[in-house]
Amino acid sequence: MSKIKVGHASNPENHIKINDSSVSRVHLEVSKIDNDTLRIVDLGSLNGTKIDDIEILESTLKRNQTIKIGHQIYPGDEFFNRVNKFFLDKRVLWVEEFAALEAEFKKYEKKKAKVNQSLQNKMNIVRGVLAIGIALIFFMFGERMGIPTDLRFITSIGGGILAGGIVPYLISKDNASDQYVALKREYSKILVCPRCRKDLSGGTYKFWKDEKKCNSCDAIWVS
Ligand SMILES: [Zn+2]
Repeated sequence: MSKIKVGHASNPENHIKINDSSVSRVHLEVSKIDNDTLRIVDLGSLNGTKIDDIEILESTLKRNQTIKIGHQIYPGDEFFNRVNKFFLDKRVLWVEEFAALEAEFKKYEKKKAKVNQSLQNKMNIVRGVLAIGIALIFFMFGERMGIPTDLRFITSIGGGILAGGIVPYLISKDNASDQYVALKREYSKILVCPRCRKDLSGGTYKFWKDEKKCNSCDAIWVS
């Protein structure tokens, strides 16, 4: 299907039916330019069509924009999901395209490990500095703190170990999750079913390969 029609729910000819009186019977037409770009043509609707709050007659829509149809507002991503099923390629075999994802999955794993490693390194440095600092404080001020001489060495070591041990709790997990979220966001757009673009970033390549096909669009990944 090359063009789909969007309009009021009362018109059976519409592919996407919106039950809202601000939406015209025949409101707009959508065609696909590529996976991230749609062409929107307003078909003379009464209340108009806006993209990012700008009235349009004919324009492109990207996933990160919003579209307003009559009084109904849709985030671009949501609108893409609604129209995408009408644009699905009729082809069923996606073996080559799926196999090409293996390299991207590997890159993703590598980048995730790197984020992990950099956090681990940071933690070890802070842990070392803190442990030595606390040990030194006990050692130097032990007398003033009223710690008997023969216990001073052992309390220094104990204090240092304790201080080093609590570091993982001091370095907030947010520190790492910011980087994880950015990484996940990037790859949830790359690691997708080649046909319906369902997000596959939550599983490994092997996991999806064993599934053999997409449970959203029935594309065959492994024949
Ligand atoms: Zn799919």
